[in-house]
Amino acid sequence: MTDLDFDTTWQNVLTDIKDRSKVPSFRTWFEKSSLENIKGELAEINLSSAFAISYVQSHFEDVIKEVLSEHVGSPIKKITYSESKKQKKIKQFIDPDQPSLIDLADRQRVLVVEQVKTNSSSTLNDRYTFDTFIVGNSNRLAHAAAQAVSRSIGSAYNPLYIYGGVGLGKTHLMQAVGHEVLRQDPDKKILYVSCEVFLNELVSAIQSGSVDRFKKKYRNVDVFLVDDIQFIAGKETTQEEFFHTYNALHQTNKQIIITSDKPPQEIPQLEDRLASRFAAGMIADIQPPDLEMREAILQRKCIEQGKEINPKLIRLIAERVDSNIRELEGALLTVITDLEVNNQELNHDNIQQALNRLVQTRRKSDRPSVSLIKDIVCEFYRINHEEIISARRNKELVFPRQIFMFLLKTELSMSFPNIGKEVGGRDHTTVMYGVDKIFKELKKNSGLRDEVKEIKSRFYRI
Ligand code: ADP
Ligand code: MG
Repeated sequence: MTDLDFDTTWQNVLTDIKDRSKVPSFRTWFEKSSLENIKGELAEINLSSAFAISYVQSHFEDVIKEVLSEHVGSPIKKITYSESKKQKKIKQFIDPDQPSLIDLADRQRVLVVEQVKTNSSSTLNDRYTFDTFIVGNSNRLAHAAAQAVSRSIGSAYNPLYIYGGVGLGKTHLMQAVGHEVLRQDPDKKILYVSCEVFLNELVSAIQSGSVDRFKKKYRNVDVFLVDDIQFIAGKETTQEEFFHTYNALHQTNKQIIITSDKPPQEIPQLEDRLASRFAAGMIADIQPPDLEMREAILQRKCIEQGKEINPKLIRLIAERVDSNIRELEGALLTVITDLEVNNQELNHDNIQQALNRLVQTRRKSDRPSVSLIKDIVCEFYRINHEEIISARRNKELVFPRQIFMFLLKTELSMSFPNIGKEVGGRDHTTVMYGVDKIFKELKKNSGLRDEVKEIKSRFYRI
């Protein structure tokens, strides 16, 4: 295929996926996306950010494979992703017409897509390898332990328990082990699962009477990666099942890696038998990065982004943002984008100012303001400020509007009538309905939970 064919094919694929999934945030994930290459059964897709990659990977990969195979006329079985560098090629996917009402058939398709999503929980993020993991004083022990485990799975440290605050690289490190094991032996079965997914899958297995299948899935692996185990707190049935899964794997020398925000004995309402098992292998913590490490991370990030920034300026950012690595990456990007959009060069004063602006918007108070929430929701769903409060009722506006109302309720605890005033003078019953709808939807839709999590993380970035 020529370049032009790739472009046309990709636009057609996107139109089809959009029809099938009807996800209002669709445009966010596929903005500036492109089909870069097809080689046999392998396709390469370029997306705008690392976050878009991980989201698309976990929520759209199967449907992309399916639709792409149809368009190409031969099976596409594997997809690799790249992140767009600078403004390499700007290709925007523009929805040619407004969405129509979702008919029943579409709803069913959405359900199918949802199903596929939950089954693809085992995917590892391509970026989370040892190569891209920077080692410093704060994570040296955890890194060494992870490497030892990847060299002799099941026998070095089992389990390996890594704990530390958010955004410090726990998920990255545990997945790096998965990648490394697969590199040595592609036949090894790696199962990565967030504790939440384990929990949800167990609940639905119980409800649908398919617990045997659930057990088989979880017991038939070589490396079991369980992320954020703290969410198991107080969930008795899940702990019971987890205990059996754990024992089955451990007894057959399968490797188990667990991450958490705290050491096992500090997780509230965790059964003693689990806590003692978690503590029986190796426990390694990750601390927040020191200045030197923050600089190293920013330097690496600049290289990845194809930006050249004077080390003194990097130091400036590293000094100001000292919380965690995710925020550090976010701050670097925001500052660079801010300056590029305003056509300013990357010099000391401009960076200082951009950092000040960033801190001001994000840290004015511990709680985000109504207008910050509105800005971020609009930015996320690519709609404008008039649209979100307008009287128009098409789905692409109604849904973000409901998310906005939901966040005003949950983040700011505003009253329903006051929320009504913020969204174009709507009646409080409309607000109650909207907020309730999002609550219900969140319970059953893990994709939406990820979205809301991402939106919220933007309020508190830096
Ligand atoms: P956690 O699971 O602890 O919340 P993540 O593993 O999701 O944190 O890491 C957050 C972000 O920071 C990711 O983009 C990750 O690649 C990056 N990151 C974390 N630690 C490192 C490191 N040591 N070197 C390079 N990038 C890192
Ligand atoms: Mg994590």
